[in-house]
Amino acid sequence: MARKSNFFAGPSTLPVEVLNKLRDSLVDYNGEGLSMIEASHRGGMFEKMYDECLDLFREVLGIPENYDVYFLGGGATLQFTMIPVNFLTKGKVADYAKTGTWSNKAAADAAKLGDVNIYFDGKDSNYTTLPDPKKVKPSENSAYLYLCSNETIGGIEWMSFPDTGDVPLIADMSSDILSRPVDVKKFAMIYGGVQKNLGPAGATFIIMRKDMLDRRNPNLTAYMDYALHAKEKGLYNTPPVFSIWAVKLMLEWIKEHGGAEGMEKRAIEKSGYIYDVIDSSDFFRSPIPKEFRSRMNVVFRLPSEELEAKFVEESKKEGMLGLKGHRSVGGLRASLYNSLPMEDAKKLASFMKEFEKKNG
Ligand SMILES: *Cc1c(COP(=O)(O)O)cnc(C)c1O
Repeated sequence: MARKSNFFAGPSTLPVEVLNKLRDSLVDYNGEGLSMIEASHRGGMFEKMYDECLDLFREVLGIPENYDVYFLGGGATLQFTMIPVNFLTKGKVADYAKTGTWSNKAAADAAKLGDVNIYFDGKDSNYTTLPDPKKVKPSENSAYLYLCSNETIGGIEWMSFPDTGDVPLIADMSSDILSRPVDVKKFAMIYGGVQKNLGPAGATFIIMRKDMLDRRNPNLTAYMDYALHAKEKGLYNTPPVFSIWAVKLMLEWIKEHGGAEGMEKRAIEKSGYIYDVIDSSDFFRSPIPKEFRSRMNVVFRLPSEELEAKFVEESKKEGMLGLKGHRSVGGLRASLYNSLPMEDAKKLASFMKEFEKKNG
């Protein structure tokens, strides 16, 4: 089977090695006589696999001992509610940056639940810029300072992070987790959906410093309470088993390919091919200033919407999927997540040059 080049923003491409492993052991997992997705999540083969998955996650990302790691359901979106419900207690204010679709949604949910201070709003630049991390200061009464490390739709990415002192720093890393090394110690909490860089949709990873639990509202319903999930290691209720299993295989794949450093090298090279074409042409245009450009989601424009539609159509014919920009912003977008093969990025870059020759 010829695999297409998959530039979808999420759910997104997975390594063919991982898909083959899933297929090969789908019916009979390691000779156990049943599938991983048929097994109980209490004990036995699931918990063994789950523990290995969590250990690998710790190893590959460098998550210190004083952090809990587990997976929940509900998508990254549920965390937009769980974070303020747990930590935005009375008398406190939560600091949010509005830098695009995802952080704006998180800020809007938090504002329904408590006091929110917007420490940066990218509205005037049409969400193509980020604040200078050195100038970001939390409010006096801050419960936490929040950011989205990579705005998947807008195509901007924080290259370094603010120092918030004693104020917990919380990041949505849905679309750039493990695409580069991160100093986890800087963050009180890192979370995200796995369906961009780490696996198929279903699981949400939660990485949280244990002392955060002392700051939470203790009077919550069961599922909303991080302390319960930490205590149960994410197994309070049925976890997204299939997704977690695939994440484990994906983490093994990342480790085999140089870990976080290896992923960063790949990300720099892949996005470099596309940005180089954009910057060496008057035909393609990036709406994003260089210092904010995402390595995961490269957004770009052509001289007209007609040409953009033609680009999408013709790229599809060449076996390249998912290049249409998000409907809220238009234009084009190439998502270049961890699993996207290097050859696919090169193929897109040469297609772009050809397209310019014919249409420029
Ligand atoms: C995709 C995405 C989300 C939403 O994730 P769901 O799992 O669909 O809830 C949130 N934040 C970012 C940065 C995303 O890319």
